[in-house]
Amino acid sequence: MSEATENSGGGAADHVALVTGAARGLGAAIAARLAAAGHPVVLADVLDGVEDTAARLRDAGGEARAIRLDVADAAAVAALPETLGAWWERLAILVNNAGVSPKVDGRKRPVEEIPLEEWNRVLAVNLTGPFLLSQRCIPVMRARGWGRIVMMTSQAAHVPSSITGAYYGASKAGLMGFARNLAAELGRDGITVNSVAPGRIMSDMVAGAAPGMNEAFLARIPLGRLGEPAEVAEVVAFLASDAAAYLTGTTIDVGGGSYMP
Ligand code: NAD
Repeated sequence: MSEATENSGGGAADHVALVTGAARGLGAAIAARLAAAGHPVVLADVLDGVEDTAARLRDAGGEARAIRLDVADAAAVAALPETLGAWWERLAILVNNAGVSPKVDGRKRPVEEIPLEEWNRVLAVNLTGPFLLSQRCIPVMRARGWGRIVMMTSQAAHVPSSITGAYYGASKAGLMGFARNLAAELGRDGITVNSVAPGRIMSDMVAGAAPGMNEAFLARIPLGRLGEPAEVAEVVAFLASDAAAYLTGTTIDVGGGSYMP
């Protein structure tokens, strides 16, 4: 048995995973993949539908529960130990997936038309939320000497986007920088922190794009198709596993080759 496995303090059933934005899209696929791997999964979302998503995972044989949580609500995040009860002590995996990308008629707002409240909300959900959740979860991960934090960033963190507003790229680039700093701070505690940067993955967020936008993006994808949420979930599950013990502070691009550093 490797040292990494010994340090993990048990198998998948002993590693509770908290996935934000898990009612639908990438988050739902990540929750399903982690549940299938044997992790008890907490699905957190602002949408009522998160209950149904968790119920589907239970029907499929997984251990899953849903909570209503706005990741930008500092008081609600602070109360997570009480909310989760006995599950909290086994919290070992945090996937900061919740995100917003406001559009007007399926198109991005030009910078000069972004209202301050909208700028603040995007930063609050996409960047401050992961900060609050990571901060809250670090002590319980540190106590067992094992933890995995995965940030859902975006290709828009690397390159300008014709589809998402400037605040979105700013928040995701900030999230990537936050992940690297966190990785440097937490490595000695046995906690890894990595980013996943999807390109264009079919979800409600992407389906809401104006006509022609996804088709235009498609032309730039070497693999010739949009991605599936399950393909992102696979990478997250790897990063959350013992197999990824020697990866931290890195970003895995999941975009069919649409971004090559
Ligand atoms: P989606 O809109 O389909 O799902 C996002 C989920 O997050 C929703 O269930 C939503 O209710 C939830 N959410 C929003 N605000 C929240 C909050 N304050 N607190 C808790 N939950 C909240 O989007 P998706 O495509 O599944 O995207 C998931 C993540 O992946 C996002 O962070 C997004 O920025 C990122 N991403 C997606 C793509 C893509 O192509 N789909 C590409 C790059 C990055």
